Amino acid sequence: MADHMIRAMAWGGRVRVAACDTTATVEELRRIHDPSPVSTAAVGRIATGALLITSMLEKATGREPMVTIEIDGDGPAGKLLATASPKGWVRAMVANPLATADPKVNGKLNVAGVVGTSGELVVTRDPGIGEPYRGVVPLVSGEIAQDLARYLLDSEQIPSAVLLGVHVVPAGRVGHAGGLMVQLLPGVSDEQAEELSSRVRGLGAVTSQMAAGAGPMAWIESLFAKDLTVLGEIPVRFYCGCSERRVETALMLLGADEVRSMIEDNPDGPTLLSCGFCRKEYSVSTADLRRVLRSVAAGGADDGPN
Ligand SMILES: [Zn+2]
Repeated sequence: MADHMIRAMAWGGRVRVAACDTTATVEELRRIHDPSPVSTAAVGRIATGALLITSMLEKATGREPMVTIEIDGDGPAGKLLATASPKGWVRAMVANPLATADPKVNGKLNVAGVVGTSGELVVTRDPGIGEPYRGVVPLVSGEIAQDLARYLLDSEQIPSAVLLGVHVVPAGRVGHAGGLMVQLLPGVSDEQAEELSSRVRGLGAVTSQMAAGAGPMAWIESLFAKDLTVLGEIPVRFYCGCSERRVETALMLLGADEVRSMIEDNPDGPTLLSCGFCRKEYSVSTADLRRVLRSVAAGGADDGPN
């Protein structure tokens, strides 16, 4: 089945659920970044997690709502970044895609081994109107799902269970990828919370479920046999919204010193810049770099007439 995400409410609106199959999307991320298997799992998990968190955004009439997750851990992968939209698109990157770590004793990919176990997880939730909400928590596990659950509890006061899984087959391709997020809203008793968390534990790994032919809808139905309202299902895909215009904005944010050194390194130009998310290359002429430099010097990183 094609990649998709399902949003639902259960127990009379006291439980919020999102579940997604991101297999083809994570395979696309792997094709773009060519990471090691364990870095594929890390980048796939952060991308899937960002998509799940978009389910918490309401529809807005302003700019496009977005969720960005940034993990800056002490592992060899370096910084990981993912941006997703409630429309179902996501993009992600990892600073050192070739980073590896020895497998865990059970033979599983050691995601915490490349991400690290100390550092920061930053979630920026831009509802598309008003100010974005930014929450920072210390990294606790490095496996990403637990770190996101910790963020949701500590920073948003929402007790949540998060499952993220990426199964990489021996050839290096992505066999299955997906995730599940279950959130307890006010009104759930401690006994109900305990019961639900044991049901979620009973699901096991989402990738094992997928290997057995059970997708996101089946997980949700197995957790909530009754009193379930499906809010919607959207297709999920990789998409990078980069453009020449945005490359210029990025250059302005880099600052005058950086742009000046690009001109010095290659005075005749053009300078090739590659998008970290999709690896698309942009050729920027020296005249354009100088124009950016003048604009930065004038203190303007605003969107001028183009
Ligand atoms: Zn791009």
